[in-house]
Amino acid sequence: MNRSELISNLKKEQDKIWDIIIIGGGATGLGVALDSVTRGYKTLLLEQADFTSGTSSRSTKLVHGGVRYLAKGDLWLVMEALHERGLMLKNAPHLTSNQEFIIPLYSLFDVLQYWLGLKFYDILSGRLSLGKSYYINKEKTLERLPNLKGEGLKGGIVYHDGQFDDSRLAVSMAAESIKRGATVLNYFRVNSLVKNELGKITGVKASEMVSGEEFILTAKVVINATGVFADTITKMDEPLSEASIRPSQGIHLVLDRSFLRSNSAIMIPKTEDGRVLFAIPWYNEVVVGTTDTPLDEISLEPKALDQEIDFILRTADAYLTHSPKREDVLSIFAGLRPLAANPSNPGATKEVSRRHKISLSSSGLLSVIGGKWTTYRRMAEETIDKAIKAGFLQKRKCLTHHLPLADNEITRHGGRLGIYGSGYKEIEHIIADNPSSGLLIHKDLPYTKAEISWICSNEMPVNLDDVLSRRTRATLLNARASAESGPEVARIMAETLGLDSSWQSSQIKAYNELISKYI
Ligand SMILES: Cc1cc2nc3c(=O)[nH]c(=O)nc-3n(C[C@H](O)[C@H](O)[C@H](O)COP(=O)(O)OP(=O)(O)OC[C@H]3O[C@@H](n4cnc5c(N)ncnc54)[C@H](O)[C@@H]3O)c2cc1C
Repeated sequence: MNRSELISNLKKEQDKIWDIIIIGGGATGLGVALDSVTRGYKTLLLEQADFTSGTSSRSTKLVHGGVRYLAKGDLWLVMEALHERGLMLKNAPHLTSNQEFIIPLYSLFDVLQYWLGLKFYDILSGRLSLGKSYYINKEKTLERLPNLKGEGLKGGIVYHDGQFDDSRLAVSMAAESIKRGATVLNYFRVNSLVKNELGKITGVKASEMVSGEEFILTAKVVINATGVFADTITKMDEPLSEASIRPSQGIHLVLDRSFLRSNSAIMIPKTEDGRVLFAIPWYNEVVVGTTDTPLDEISLEPKALDQEIDFILRTADAYLTHSPKREDVLSIFAGLRPLAANPSNPGATKEVSRRHKISLSSSGLLSVIGGKWTTYRRMAEETIDKAIKAGFLQKRKCLTHHLPLADNEITRHGGRLGIYGSGYKEIEHIIADNPSSGLLIHKDLPYTKAEISWICSNEMPVNLDDVLSRRTRATLLNARASAESGPEVARIMAETLGLDSSWQSSQIKAYNELISKYI
């Protein structure tokens, strides 16, 4: 991944007609880019900020069928997601894992209901099952979840789902797409759509955000994969179009692992307002969430509301013996779901189906919105199939079902560094050549200086935030520690990328301002 090389090639090829231009570098856009380039189409992806700086780095980190959607009877959605869950764990073993969940239950009726439901969940996952679900009594539940309150507990149901590192998987997808010939660029904003005399879309006008340089780029089809921002692109196409997205915010609190004291995750199926809440071990900490709060504003950096934080702490307090307080929170992160707007009932966000929607405008803008991280591959396949069906592209078969993003060897030998795919070997060499680069960037974060310099040379970060929030997960794991590591990380970035001390100061200042939203 070499950003300046990709941009310089783009400049040389300004007359090129791309088969596909994708707007948006989240899970959806990167999935489409990977599907497109593996089918052999000339593929260009433009992301206005960093890859996954929108919703896709702020998920609950679950690769799941969605037990909750099963309860709603959305069988097709669950089956499709369970199938994709299985493929994702096989294709990206370096960034996914099989996670055990326990649902604590307080009535015999609930025990029976969830036991039956999860047996059905097992059946739906078929050959791609991650393990059978089963009942455990009260003693065993408390043995596996020692911090759970035992009062009134009747037992638990154990089941399995997947877990992953969302933004690192996205970087893996971007790297694989580039390796296969796609041009995938961060900090490249689409400002408008270009149309011909018949009113059909022929390309985009875009700006490279670091230099401000403008580009006019031509393609057979333009794909809108901008998540909660989808309406801004739709309005470039049809200025009078109605809002189709209703953003709904979900937040997570990150806590020290001592609040869970278990390798099993907890799933609370019904909180005081009927939502689902998870407490999941992630790296060395625990992620607890989420909420579902309708919002009117969209932003790349949404901020958790006080009542959302209180709701999560209150729910944790109801279930845990050692319950967290505000001062125990290591980091708070918020993300926005791009849900379909429902003008007759705008508040009912948790009732809205999480299925994705693919639509084609009369001028040829192909939009793909909604869905889940788990189903990104399927969404991409359907989007490209739709572009073929609409006559934009020649028919070619989808090849992503069994497309590995890393091999099992890497995951086995790389240990913690396996998250960088085959890059782990280069990081080990950096440390062997210069042992002091093996020192941690901060005593409370798991990342070494060598990882930062490898990331800068290989994964296209532009700002300090890209390294701390999405190439590593320092911001999410421990916001204060990440801010304290900022000067050293900025120094390594500047050294590797050839930037000066004023760049370092401005990056540290910008990061310290940003981090107030995570603390
Ligand atoms: C709180 C929460 C928890 C979730 N948990 C899970 C989970 O555990 N498992 C799961 O499977 N799913 C989960 N999801 C759903 C999943 O995260 C989303 O479905 C997915 O990330 C959406 O990806 P996207 O690419 O469509 O949108 P985004 O990630 O928002 O990407 C859109 C991108 O478009 C870019 N963009 C916008 N305008 C322009 C422009 N003019 N030019 C260039 N680029 C532009 C934006 O900068 C952005 O990066 C969760 C969602 C939320 C909100």
